Amino acid sequence: MRRNLSRRGFAAIVAGAGSLAAQQQPAPPPNPNTSLQPQERRQGTLDEVPPFKDPIQFARNPVAPKVEPFPMTQVRLLPGPFLDAAEWNRGYMNRLAADRLLHNFRLNAGLDSKAEPLGGWEVYVAPTPGQPRRNSEGELRGHFTGHFLSASAQLYASMGDKEAKSKGDYMVAELARCQEKLGAGGYLSAFPTEWFDRLDARRPVWAPFYTIHKIMAGMFDMYQLAGNKQALTVLEGMSNWADEWTRSKSEEHMQDILNTEYGGMNDILYKLAAATGNDRWAAAGDRFTKKRFFNPLALRRDELTGLHVNTHIPQVIGAAQRYEISGDMRFHDVADYFWYEVATARSYVTEGTSNGEGWLAQPRMLASELKRSVATAECCCSYNMLKLTRHLYGWKGGPGYFDYYERALFNHRLGTIQPKTGFTQYYLSLTPGAWKTFNTEDKSFWCCTGSGVEEYSKLNDSIYWRDEDGVLVNLFIPSELNWEEKGFRLRQETRFPEQQTTSLTVTAARPASMALKLRVPAWTRSASVKVNGRAIDVTPTPGSYLTLTRSWKTGDRIEMTLPMRLTVESMPDDPKTQAFLYGPIVLAGDLGSEGLTEQMIVGPNAPRPQRVPLEVPTFKAANAGPSSWIKPAGAPLSFRTTGQSKDVTLVPLNSIFGARYSVYWQVG
Ligand SMILES: [Zn+2]
Repeated sequence: MRRNLSRRGFAAIVAGAGSLAAQQQPAPPPNPNTSLQPQERRQGTLDEVPPFKDPIQFARNPVAPKVEPFPMTQVRLLPGPFLDAAEWNRGYMNRLAADRLLHNFRLNAGLDSKAEPLGGWEVYVAPTPGQPRRNSEGELRGHFTGHFLSASAQLYASMGDKEAKSKGDYMVAELARCQEKLGAGGYLSAFPTEWFDRLDARRPVWAPFYTIHKIMAGMFDMYQLAGNKQALTVLEGMSNWADEWTRSKSEEHMQDILNTEYGGMNDILYKLAAATGNDRWAAAGDRFTKKRFFNPLALRRDELTGLHVNTHIPQVIGAAQRYEISGDMRFHDVADYFWYEVATARSYVTEGTSNGEGWLAQPRMLASELKRSVATAECCCSYNMLKLTRHLYGWKGGPGYFDYYERALFNHRLGTIQPKTGFTQYYLSLTPGAWKTFNTEDKSFWCCTGSGVEEYSKLNDSIYWRDEDGVLVNLFIPSELNWEEKGFRLRQETRFPEQQTTSLTVTAARPASMALKLRVPAWTRSASVKVNGRAIDVTPTPGSYLTLTRSWKTGDRIEMTLPMRLTVESMPDDPKTQAFLYGPIVLAGDLGSEGLTEQMIVGPNAPRPQRVPLEVPTFKAANAGPSSWIKPAGAPLSFRTTGQSKDVTLVPLNSIFGARYSVYWQVG
């Protein structure tokens, strides 16, 4: 059978190909830390030196990126599914009042608040004097407010939304009042410092630094993207508190504390160090290096089985940030190897990863992993993997990173926001017979609700990048780039993926001599390009960039055709468990909505398909490939199986709402 060549097959392709395109694919680079052979490394040796053994010293030595994204202020979405998703998210954010988001912070600081409390993970559970805590409900309270600040700053940057900025500015000012009232060296939270005493004493507490990280990141984004200087002052206060708290611990004790989830504390402190030039924050960030997690990664070893996924991806994003300001290759290797391993050995066909929030099975045992629960592919994990991908792409500029990014974005992210309500998912279940479930208006506030409002407030990010030669076009999304410094605009009009074409039109204040590099996805064959109506005589290579260099002037128009085809992707540990794609689009069988109620769709964090039994069809496939028995069904991106005992209509997974579906099938 033919396998899709893009993800799980690409290590083999890279090994077998010497072309430039192949070299640009993300691949595991040689290990600079050891000369041992892979087999020896895997088994470990007595004289192996852990890369993170000694106390970490910070020395600033910034690494220049190879490619950089255009700032969100210079890219606007045009009408299409991404702009729709952005507006649904903006609508949800607009419905949440600032005073409700501030309520728990004010109560914690002893300030008056009469706002209607939020529910779910933002619920406030007052302690009962003399009573032991019964559960951890409410222990992440305040986390969503941090996400909301980041999302507000991004709405301002991505859509020019001044009301979002005003609301964010108001919240920053009110949170600054809370911080001042708390008076604990810059501490700011919706819960008391006593929870950090519990963390320090290794007594049960959920994840206080996780929540603090969200608030710090929100302040950073309000400063960097919305120009709010007070947010920087609040953030420096919080960083001062975090620096002092961590400085007072021995390294051994701190390493033990790091066994409790702490979000991206290392990441935010490195970002602050980069933005302010103050190395103190980087030294504080270094204390959040979880050595037992980083050491095997820096040695390019997968010891991820059994770990909680979204606890660890943000730590790796921090490693990427650390490499960028210091050039320390150990951190580079942690991020580089981790991305490679998760993308190639631990991701489903949607590029989603995790099951029951963990990596439960060994690498490449995804069929086995899939059977362990219905709670597959937590949305935060995809959000964070996209963030990590942007870092690695910035270092290397290989188009393969955007094959991954595109697949995750179109399938996992575009498909997990409910039309109109803007509610988002926790898990995108890939269990056959599952359905999509969404958060409620104000009684959920899961981690993924938080990363959700962030994701959909920056959908214009990463479409266009630049290098020293010119502009790179990485995603086929209706949008306009306005490179103000050069007086150069590029307007992309497309109905991709419903149509297999995109067009780019130039507006230039003066003729602009530069390269336009168009990503030629790995999934296409026989792509073609016309400039001003004339076909160019170069055959674009899948998995490469097609470079067009000329003096661009107003009215110049590029048309690119990206033919799609049906492909099969089999589970690496069970060739009979198969998923189907059309181009980069993951197809799902629509299994109808019988038995589903609104309560089963809005509210639960995952579906419970075992409670509503449904027989998922199995298929018999011809040897000739999927297009011999899966036929176009009329509408764009719609297909129908033929010759099966029960035929099924296949449509994009990202278009199915309120119905049961299957992505994976048993194919004999
Ligand atoms: Zn989550």
